[in-house]
Amino acid sequence: MTPSDDRYDAVIVGSGFGGSVMAHRLAAAEPKLNVCLLERGKAWPPGSFPRTPAEFQRALWAPGEGQHGLYDVWSFSGIGALVSSGLGGGSLIYANVMLPKDADSFVHDTVFDGPPRWPIDRADLDPHYAAVATMLSPVEYPEHLLAVTPKARAFRAAAEGMGLVPTPLAVTFSSEDEEPGTPFGEPGDNLHGRQRYTCRLGGECDVGCNFGSKNSLDYTYLSAAKRAGAEIRCRHEVKLVAPDGDGYRLEVVDHTDAVEGQPPSVPPRRLTLRTRRLILSAGALGTPYLLLSNRSSFPRISRMLGERFCGNGDFLAFAARCREPLESAVGPVITSAVRTPTHYIEDGGYPVFLAWVAQMLDTPRIAWGARRVGLHLLWRRLTGRRERNISFELSELLGDPSVSAGTLPILGMGLEPPQGRQKLRDGLLDIEWSFDRARPYFDSVRGTIAELSERLGGRFEDDILWRLNAVMTVHPLGGCPMGATADEGVVDPRSGEVHNYPRLHVADGSVMPGPVGANPSMTIAAVADRFADAILAEEGRL
Ligand SMILES: Cc1cc2nc3c(=O)[nH]c(=O)nc-3n(C[C@H](O)[C@H](O)[C@H](O)COP(=O)(O)OP(=O)(O)OC[C@H]3O[C@@H](n4cnc5c(N)ncnc54)[C@H](O)[C@@H]3O)c2cc1C
Ligand code: SF4
Repeated sequence: MTPSDDRYDAVIVGSGFGGSVMAHRLAAAEPKLNVCLLERGKAWPPGSFPRTPAEFQRALWAPGEGQHGLYDVWSFSGIGALVSSGLGGGSLIYANVMLPKDADSFVHDTVFDGPPRWPIDRADLDPHYAAVATMLSPVEYPEHLLAVTPKARAFRAAAEGMGLVPTPLAVTFSSEDEEPGTPFGEPGDNLHGRQRYTCRLGGECDVGCNFGSKNSLDYTYLSAAKRAGAEIRCRHEVKLVAPDGDGYRLEVVDHTDAVEGQPPSVPPRRLTLRTRRLILSAGALGTPYLLLSNRSSFPRISRMLGERFCGNGDFLAFAARCREPLESAVGPVITSAVRTPTHYIEDGGYPVFLAWVAQMLDTPRIAWGARRVGLHLLWRRLTGRRERNISFELSELLGDPSVSAGTLPILGMGLEPPQGRQKLRDGLLDIEWSFDRARPYFDSVRGTIAELSERLGGRFEDDILWRLNAVMTVHPLGGCPMGATADEGVVDPRSGEVHNYPRLHVADGSVMPGPVGANPSMTIAAVADRFADAILAEEGRL
């Protein structure tokens, strides 16, 4: 252990939607606060996101195995979760949708019985939604690009009358008189020091944008935080947090010198940092995990730690072999949303290279095509025909293109009961979550997706996990829920301060006491902005 003299006014752990907002708000305070942000993952400048199979193989987060990549995948009983590791957190691989939480979903649990559990309402968050929008600049998918985006046109036409809502996307699109891929901004405006280009509609948002078109947190809040003087330390993974005098102590593993692709040959460097105020923003898996594994240092923490976990009702299905080609690889990953009282459904997309994977699903036809090519060649040889061109036969080898072109992934999310409980098992994070208790909610989402698939002239198809009675979430929430008292929640709803632990705060998806319903990033950022106001007021800086 290398002791360090570093002591800060505020340390923030994690650079997702909660941590980045906090880092910027606190670093921009006057008079100045000495602010440090610790992020376990790397910075991902444009052009660095993985694309080849070899690059994807190294794209996972498993530092003990020498993997320092973007994707952190978890598997629990009945539910799996995908989160991100890198400077910008989930914004690096998210699909850019910035919807607020519906006003009526704060007070009434429409799907599950019980008293209202949200200690804040929409009016509390409205000014913060506005502040976040100023930084992330979400816009509706532009009309002029609809003409070149078949899946968006088809989804909107089919969803007419089902509850289509405006769907703000935090992406910079070309204007009507520009080509997609036009340079914008100055390299000096962002912490990568790189030129950004308007969206090229290549459907790669969930594997990282190599053109800087997404207004992700690294280009927005984190660049602003750095300009305001925040110290940003990437590849610094926090392992231990504990009260220390009038503040907190952190033990941190420094992965900066790690050689990627091989397990560390010597233990990585560890350092100790001290801070007067500590803000945990490691996400709805990372923050509860940190607090659960350091629980003995926080004996007076609420019994609600680990409670009210949910996957925000995430559900994936497909409208397969639709009437018209939808070309799901063209456009940003999500362009449109339908809202019902209990859930949203949205069009999905994927990169062009995955369209080839989708096409390979037409295996029977491809096998049949290969047999036909073989028989043709044999026939020509036997009959002595000299025609050498087999282009047509080879094109048959690709099977029926409507398999990839006519299949639209459809994403559902909504008011799933927050019934999950996070705990430690053998020192590792575990989640108790019941598929059966969530089933009525999921059946209602499946009904809406089935109706839309029919309207698209396609066939509703579940994903493979559903057939195994399991789901995968990209929107984990809860574990450190807000509550007015320590009996009701882990953190207070004004500043995110952990009950009984002054100046220890949580600001990320884990503070949600239930599902957001819509895609949650906008709400996570707005809640963090609200907490920042309260912290700055306490610091005499507002
Ligand atoms: C494929 C995909 C698509 C999505 N699309 C959308 C969308 O369109 N709209 C939307 O609203 N949401 C979307 N989401 C969800 C969104 O990304 C998350 O809800 C959001 O990022 C959560 O924010 P957060 O601040 O809680 O945590 P995160 O963004 O997960 O940030 C936590 C950060 O903490 C770091 N960290 C964790 N542990 C430690 C540690 N011990 N030490 C140091 N650092 C640590 C992590 O590396 C990470 O950077 C999507 C997610 C995925 C995976
Ligand atoms: S579609 Fe491509 S260029 Fe546009 S935001 Fe997504 S990844 Fe970036």
